[in-house]
Amino acid sequence: MIESKIIQQLLESGSIAIVSHENPDGDCIGSMLALYLALKRKGKNARMFLKNNVPKNLRFLPAAEKIEVVGRIDEKFDVLVLLDTGELERTGIENIENCYSKLINIDHHVTSEGIGDLYYINSSSAATGEIIYQIVKLMGIDNDREIATCLYTSIFTDTGGFKYSNTTSITHQIAGDLINTGIDFVYIINKVFDEMSLSKFNLLKDVLQTLELFEGNKIAFLTVTREMLKKNGASRDETENIINFARNIEDVEVAAIFIEEEDKIKVSLRSKYYFDCAQIAKEFGGGGHVRAAGFSSKNASLEAVKENLLKRLKRDLR
Ligand code: 5GP
Ligand code: MN
Repeated sequence: MIESKIIQQLLESGSIAIVSHENPDGDCIGSMLALYLALKRKGKNARMFLKNNVPKNLRFLPAAEKIEVVGRIDEKFDVLVLLDTGELERTGIENIENCYSKLINIDHHVTSEGIGDLYYINSSSAATGEIIYQIVKLMGIDNDREIATCLYTSIFTDTGGFKYSNTTSITHQIAGDLINTGIDFVYIINKVFDEMSLSKFNLLKDVLQTLELFEGNKIAFLTVTREMLKKNGASRDETENIINFARNIEDVEVAAIFIEEEDKIKVSLRSKYYFDCAQIAKEFGGGGHVRAAGFSSKNASLEAVKENLLKRLKRDLR
């Protein structure tokens, strides 16, 4: 079984680095922390690296303060574990291709093919956290409340609170098992999903004003400009989930949010019932899941990116 091979490799390695994608979300952070804590419980020397700061709403998670925010890695590790993405470039970390002897890739994106010496890609897992749950269990670690807190966060995030179509009975069984460790899921859900800073609240007010609807309200666009982030003192990670307001509008099948980043336009896509976001994101150089995907566009204006995407969406949603 591939999971056992991965565990064996991890337990045989002297130094382990765990990384994930830029603009980290709850699944990325939750699965990194859970794997890190499990390796620590086994007495292993593990470290975690990300390009961006841990989002404010996830800083309460156990060991979150141990994540090292770096632009580049110059050290060498026995093993690099790449989580929740199938592309080293998506870490946004320079020189990452030279920092390991062996690469292990664990992911659940339908657009991931798997890279490295050992990989486990399961697109029927609702979250990378579901796969890490199995790995932690196979490592013989049960009933660990700290690890369970991280994994519950992973799974809750990537299923939109057990609401998205990627949710399975296994997802619920795992969540039940995690709850049985005694985690405070009410606190987790409030922190991860419901609570927002005043700056996010004010940003939200501005972003909702940008709503554009097309094709008989089947397509909805929202926009976040650099100006809006600056004016409201909001951080990039506080744009998370705003897209759902557009997706949730009656008649909307597919929603897109355009976020002006420093050097590119980040586009997130969400669909409700039938539209394949992964396919479109892939066509634009990105990837993801069927109902949630994304891509980035460099060297193009916000207007051009919108126009191109709209043209492509109209082809399928007419
Ligand atoms: P989000 O829109 O919230 O950034 O991401 C939605 C899903 O699509 C996530 O699972 C995320 O990992 C994936 N995704 C977002 N942007 C990209 C991208 O540029 N490339 C790839 N391969 N996946 C992406
Ligand atoms: Mn994920």
